[in-house]
Amino acid sequence: MNKQLEQLLVDNPEVYKALNIIALEKQEFKTMSYYTRMINKYMDSSVNGMEVFKQFVEAEIFERKIMYECEEENYRAEVLEKNCENCKQKVLEHEYEDMFMPIYHVDLSKHNENLLSDYFDADSQIVMNDLQKNIGKTIPFVGSGISKTAGLPLWLEMFKIARNSIPKDFLPYFDMEFESKDVDRIIESIKKVHPLISDDKDLKKEIIIPQVKSKVTNDALLNSVMPEILSLGSEYIITTNYDNLLEKTSRILELDYEESRSIDSFQGFESLEDSNYIFHIHGVIDKFDSMVVTNKDYENLYDSEEKKRILAGLINQHSMLFLGFSMNDAYFSNEFGKICDSNRGYCTNYYVMINGDRQKKDELLKTSNVRFINIKAEDFEIKKQYKFMCDYISGNIFIK
Ligand SMILES: [Zn+2]
Repeated sequence: MNKQLEQLLVDNPEVYKALNIIALEKQEFKTMSYYTRMINKYMDSSVNGMEVFKQFVEAEIFERKIMYECEEENYRAEVLEKNCENCKQKVLEHEYEDMFMPIYHVDLSKHNENLLSDYFDADSQIVMNDLQKNIGKTIPFVGSGISKTAGLPLWLEMFKIARNSIPKDFLPYFDMEFESKDVDRIIESIKKVHPLISDDKDLKKEIIIPQVKSKVTNDALLNSVMPEILSLGSEYIITTNYDNLLEKTSRILELDYEESRSIDSFQGFESLEDSNYIFHIHGVIDKFDSMVVTNKDYENLYDSEEKKRILAGLINQHSMLFLGFSMNDAYFSNEFGKICDSNRGYCTNYYVMINGDRQKKDELLKTSNVRFINIKAEDFEIKKQYKFMCDYISGNIFIK
């Protein structure tokens, strides 16, 4: 591949995106202003589209031609200094326009195919093609792994901070319970040995709220996976997270998902029409009592006929795309099973796992109505994989 093109593809994710979008258009000659408008649309507003396009031309990934007019006929020339075919004057004496056509399709396609096989296994690619077809009726279902890409702790990691205030003698006990990955056991152990926490209310106040409310900068949000999830353009987004990072990101990007909805203050489906929103099925951080944390909260949620009806309404008509969850979390895998059962026969769900193994997948397949996308990642540096996946299923990645 052309070295300069290679550089362009890896240096800046926005340039990469713009190159894909251009390649996805019909391959024909267009004016420079057409491309600069396109680049400006997909890149940060501080970027000068014209400058970027000049880089493209320099990299020789566009073919150039000059169209000029002579006595109401159109002619084509390679250089302005040539003489006109018709009147023999110089081409530059005429009304002319520079036209460009992208010619990097083969290289870009190869680059993208390589990324696809670096980031995902072969099964996942087929599932992603299927998801791409269903994207219009798919709802992202977002867990703590997504907030983690903006710097918040994962769901179970959140309880680790309790360790700082547990007397030394009890640490081995707490560590053992924490290792179980069973949220109830972890919470019980905290209540037993943490001097400031004796009930669920303390737990929310001392452990959960300070961490979920910790300051996340705009830059961190824009560099997280949130913008890509919002850009999938779904009617609404469901989340088990208490934080409002999706709403904040939407505000920064001037998208329409500012509104938080929560299951405990639900006002009927009519109230949801004509608006995009983030639905927090485990409550929101600003409303203490809405938060589903312990097993008891969780049972209350799934035992209530009213709440089950609301959840069913959110889920039945759509495919769920589960992002940022761990199947090691018993709590979630239980909920996951319920949700996948509730839209069985109508929709298929998708679950994105990270470095998942086939055995686990097969176990889940027995009980669930779900297809898997498996991200291959080292050190859980997964932002680029998530971003690529979102672009891919939105149809914004060029592959021949
Ligand atoms: Zn002429």
